[in-house]
Amino acid sequence: MANRERNKKILLELVKQPDNSRCADCGAPEPDWASYKLGIFVCLNCSGVHRSLSSHVKSIRLDFWEDKLVECPQGAVDSCEIREEGVHRRD
Ligand SMILES: [Zn+2]
Repeated sequence: MANRERNKKILLELVKQPDNSRCADCGAPEPDWASYKLGIFVCLNCSGVHRSLSSHVKSIRLDFWEDKLVECPQGAVDSCEIREEGVHRRD
């Protein structure tokens, strides 16, 4: 069974990391949403865009995250399909 509190804590820690502390799309600080398919954190506005593109986004504060979904952003660079360009590249 998923551990809701633990997973939320993991997410809130992750979003404090320098790479995640800004929206991956627009650069807004303190994103509250994450795409567990892409392993990126995004702001509310951009989460709407991702949702309309049928990317899977959830609120890191409000939604329930299953264990396997949390493992994805956490190990994103290695284990998810995150190698596509642009996620951490902002130059
Ligand atoms: Zn954004």
